[in-house]
Amino acid sequence: MANKGQIGVTTENIFPVIKQFLYSDHEIFLRELVANAVDATQKMKALAASGDYKEELGELKVTLQLDEQAQTLKIVDNGIGMTEEEVDKYINQIAFSSAGEFLEKYKDQIQNIIGHFGLGFYSAFMVSKKVTIETLSWKEGAKAVKWTCDGSPAYEMEEIDKAERGTVITLYLDDDSKEYGEKARIEALLNKYCKFMPVPIVFGKEQEWKDGKYVDTDKDKIINAVEPLWTKAPSELKDEDYKEFYRTLFPMNEEPLFWIHLNVDYPFNLTGILYFPKLKDRVAVERNKISLYCNQMFVTDHVDNIVPDFMTLLHGVIDSPDIPLNVSRSYLQSDAAVKKISTYITKKVADRLENIFKEERAQLEEKWDNLKLFIEYGMLSDEKFCERALKFALLKNVDGKYFSFDEYKTAVEAQQTDKDKKLVYLYATKPEDQYTYIQAAKDKGYDVLLMDCELDAHYVNLLEQKLTDIRFARVDSDAVENLIPKEDKMKLEMKEDERYDLENLFKAVLPEGPDYFVQGDNLGENGAPILITQNEFMRRYREMSALGGGMNFYGSMPESYNLTVNMEHPLVAKIWAAKQADVAPQAELPAEAPSDASDEEKTKAREAREAVRRAHRSDVEAFAKDNELLHQLVDLALLGNGMLKGKALSDFIARSQKVLREM
Ligand code: ADP
Repeated sequence: MANKGQIGVTTENIFPVIKQFLYSDHEIFLRELVANAVDATQKMKALAASGDYKEELGELKVTLQLDEQAQTLKIVDNGIGMTEEEVDKYINQIAFSSAGEFLEKYKDQIQNIIGHFGLGFYSAFMVSKKVTIETLSWKEGAKAVKWTCDGSPAYEMEEIDKAERGTVITLYLDDDSKEYGEKARIEALLNKYCKFMPVPIVFGKEQEWKDGKYVDTDKDKIINAVEPLWTKAPSELKDEDYKEFYRTLFPMNEEPLFWIHLNVDYPFNLTGILYFPKLKDRVAVERNKISLYCNQMFVTDHVDNIVPDFMTLLHGVIDSPDIPLNVSRSYLQSDAAVKKISTYITKKVADRLENIFKEERAQLEEKWDNLKLFIEYGMLSDEKFCERALKFALLKNVDGKYFSFDEYKTAVEAQQTDKDKKLVYLYATKPEDQYTYIQAAKDKGYDVLLMDCELDAHYVNLLEQKLTDIRFARVDSDAVENLIPKEDKMKLEMKEDERYDLENLFKAVLPEGPDYFVQGDNLGENGAPILITQNEFMRRYREMSALGGGMNFYGSMPESYNLTVNMEHPLVAKIWAAKQADVAPQAELPAEAPSDASDEEKTKAREAREAVRRAHRSDVEAFAKDNELLHQLVDLALLGNGMLKGKALSDFIARSQKVLREM
């Protein structure tokens, strides 16, 4: 006879709550029910192993049966089953007594409670208008029972005939949930949530090609890998196994560079495999490629609150029953267990990289360019990782040679220490564009590093903080003589009005746009006539600001360059001499107004002086505009820096052709 009762729920009616609040995540009902079925079979296995169960165990498995016609989905297991008392205890009472209190307390967080407070089974009601449980306990003499509930807190329980041990949950899908009545949808969900569950999950039959179409064979189709790679002992595995597993996880990706097999059981339980993917630039970065599992059950692929941000660049799987599931994200971050896990993973990643550095140096060098972004990002964002990485990170020079930080210091110390005992590391960001400067540095016996990664502006700054007494300078940030000053150099003495003339002379022929700071210097007869350089710090901060990082002040400054005129160069000397000969010296300035003069008189006097200066400047400018040699020299310098564009470039070409014709 059927036994009727009220489910022991303290909240008036939990089903509308379940349906309403769990709207976005309806699909997890499948994970919850399959997980329960898997648990039941695992418990059966344990009972047999301990000798408590002595009968034939049979092949433990979970089977899903979909009837698209009837819109029912059955989850069948041959696990431990439940007695009538157990159904009453686990389904009718326990499930809701704790949940009821919880609901009161965390009304607004209701999404998070599924699974954690015995509500897993009831998630079935998110998609069903009626649910039945038919179950036979493994216990000797147990009677099979059927529990039926139509979504109200009322249920029915009756004895039934059921020969096989285990449980059959039948979902009568409701009209809003027709999608779960489709084979393809269930297949996709099983693939997402159940791909690595520890017991075979059967859905449908294997198919074969026969008479021009696919037909079912009588072989069960198992959708999961019962022993995924991360559950195996690393010592049993070969490189190819790890690569193969990566391919099953990410069929579209290129081969990973390296991997780590995580395996710890104290003070917390964690297994997993993390892969270092090829990272060429930020655009190609794929995040959220680490899946979190709990005992082989998929939980999420958002682990951003569990591992440090830079670790989310890695790909793979983490499996831990010790990460609290179904709690809010902010809670996760402050959870002590999660913090420990996060620290552990970071440490393991650093250990692995250090080990690669020591044992597989050639491999590390070969793969460095694709690994660099990850390591630099890690160093920039994680203090602890940075300290570790200083031991294994590599520097690469423009000739493709790799050095550890220690090795590099030793290599360049003798040549590249400046007068203040600071080591100067020279670097290029675009070797093609900076060729001349690189060459000049090499000719002086300096080494030039390659810093062509997008994060390098920030990275160089970080290294200056971490490596004591080291300064970085881009090869084109100054004349090669000044990059690593060895002794205090005498500044070129120029009179004030000569300095003005020099500045006005060059500014008259420089293109509009950036600011130029013109100065004379003695760089030798054989030095370049004109050098265009960019102050290291101004440039670096501009770049950092462009990347984001609180340097907005620098970002808003106009681009500015230093233009150094080599007064010793014969061509410069020729122009300068011509200027001295052709342009009359500035007329004498009218006297300044006496201090007791009226404001009006003072203004007048100032304007008179200004007028004289202006007149002289126009003379210099007129001379400059007509001086083809000056134009040609400036344009060549701009060209050498890739800064000659548009009309200026085409004028230069026309002028050059004219010069050539005259030869
Ligand atoms: P949880 O799994 O979080 O404990 P559930 O609501 O999903 O909460 O399930 C409540 C209890 O019902 C389980 O702990 C288990 O004892 C029992 N149960 C659920 N499904 C099955 C099943 N397929 N076979 C045996 N027992 C089950």
